[in-house]
This record gives sequence, structure tokens and C-alpha cells, in this order.
Amino acid sequence: MSESCKSCSQQGGCTSEQQEACGKKPEDIELENRLSRIKHKIVVLSGKGGVGKSTVSANIAVSLANAGKRVGLLDVDVHGPSIPRLLSLKGQQPQVDQDSMEPIQWSKNLWVMSMGFLLPSDSDAVIWRGPVKMGVIRQFIQNVSWGDLDYLIVDCPPGTGDEPLSALQLLGKDSKAVIVTTPQLLAIDDVRRSITFCKQVETPILGLVENMSGFVCPECGAEHKVFNTGAGEKLSLETGINYLGRIPFDPDMARAGDEGFSYVKVYPESETAKFVQKIIEPMLALDA
Ligand code: ADP
Repeated sequence: MSESCKSCSQQGGCTSEQQEACGKKPEDIELENRLSRIKHKIVVLSGKGGVGKSTVSANIAVSLANAGKRVGLLDVDVHGPSIPRLLSLKGQQPQVDQDSMEPIQWSKNLWVMSMGFLLPSDSDAVIWRGPVKMGVIRQFIQNVSWGDLDYLIVDCPPGTGDEPLSALQLLGKDSKAVIVTTPQLLAIDDVRRSITFCKQVETPILGLVENMSGFVCPECGAEHKVFNTGAGEKLSLETGINYLGRIPFDPDMARAGDEGFSYVKVYPESETAKFVQKIIEPMLALDA
């Protein structure tokens, strides 16, 4: 229900015509209708690039789909979309009708949309100002035939720029943020900036993921500590942000990214996949 509907005596349930008569713009009605069919919206953010945010987003989406949930994965990184590469979907072209776009189906219950599907080639650069980006991100939510979803996972570019801001504003106040960082970055200001950003746009933070935390030896499978551990828990205590867990640096996960296969699909029984499983538990609990 929209903010204006909440204060109305009708308390929602109005037809599009009634809402238009109330002064609502048709595009806002369409956006609300689309969002009302998506139960949980999770926006994945990071203070810096290269911390594994897209990798984490893709693995979370596949793990939720493996758990039997209907999942959409939306890549709103208009300048450097990496989801098509991570899931071997490069070159796919969504079917576009007059006013809707079909997301690309990756598995029985996972659908994907990315700017990468709409660029003619990898070397094409997008030069857009903020309002244009906001318009495209709106279309990705409003005009994509997502259908009924349990989860929409939104992979944002790093930082606190136009794309995360647009995504959070469009998804509304019932979306939740997940912040991805690495152990060595935990102590610095980028994570805190992401936390402040979420507070400013009033998006609750589901929690923090510490990626590339520890190293899984490809020879013996044992895990070694490379950087000091515990920074995630410390930051979570200090800021009150939930610590969702960590994912070690795993050479097979790096290879999965390079070769374009889903790590958790190919290695579901691995120690690293168990770490991912632990991270999605609070997300699954949202739908319990
Ligand atoms: P971001 O979206 O933050 O820019 P990516 O998801 O593109 O980062 O990841 C950057 C690189 O790190 C990729 O090559 C990816 O395969 C690799 N990577 C991410 N997480 C892990 C991990 N836990 N173990 C090994 N490699 C990882």
C-alpha cells in the first residue's frame, strides 16, 4: 500500500481508475502494481567496487531459488553490468513488447534482467545523467514481467550514487539492504557511508556480509586466515547492524566468476556454499 493510501479511509483495494481519480500518476500505479507482486525486495550494496558484491548477489539469488523460492535478479549497474557474465547469459536478448520486457529465465524459478542484455556489445559505454538512469531503473522494475516473486535481489553498482539511490527510492520503504564488504575494508569509512546512506533513505539494513574473509586452500581444502577476522562482528556490535556472515576467498568461486557458472549450483555441498546458506537464512526467515 502506498503512503497516500495508508492515510485514506478506503485503506487500499482501489482499482487503477479510482487511484487515477485520486490524482495518482498512471506510471506510479503501474509501479505499485508490479511491486505488490514481489514479496521481498533485497538491495545489495557495497561501499567500494571489487568486494564481490555481484558474486554475492548471484549466489544469494541462486541459493534462494534452490530453496524453492521464485526469485528475480536485477542488475542495475548500467555502467558495468556483470550478472550476464557471472551466469553465462551474455548475448541473451530479452523479448521486448510494446510496454513490457520478459526477463531472461536462468532456471525453473530464477529470472534475470540486466543492462548488459540491452547493450549491443561489451565495449559499448553508457553515458547517461542521473535522471535518465533513474528512468531506466524504473523501467527495469515497472516494465519487466517479473510475475509473482518471493524475492527480488537487486545488484547495485558500488557507492552511494544515482543507481542505488534510484533503486531504493523506487522499491520503496519495504525494501531491505544487504551491505557487502571485505575484512580489510570493514574498518574504513566506505561501509559506514553505506550504512549512513541507508539510514538517510530510510531503508532498513538486513545485515552485513564479509566476503573474501579467510582463504580456502585448493590443495587441502583447509581454510586459512589471511586478514584479521572478527572485524565484521565488531562493526556490527558498534553500529547495531546485523552480521549475516562471511564467505571465504575460494579459488573455485573466482573460477566460477571467470567461467560463468554458478558456484553454489556446481558445489552445493562445499564449505563455502554452507557459508552462503547461512547468509540466506535470515532472508528465508522473512518468507516463513
Ligand atoms: P563487485 O561486484 O563488488 O565489483 P565481483 O562480484 O565482480 O565484485 O567480484 C570481483 C572478483 O572477485 C571476481 O573476479 C569474482 O569472481 C571474485 N570473487 C568474489 N567473491 C569471491 C570469493 N568469495 N572467492 C573468490 N573470488 C571471489
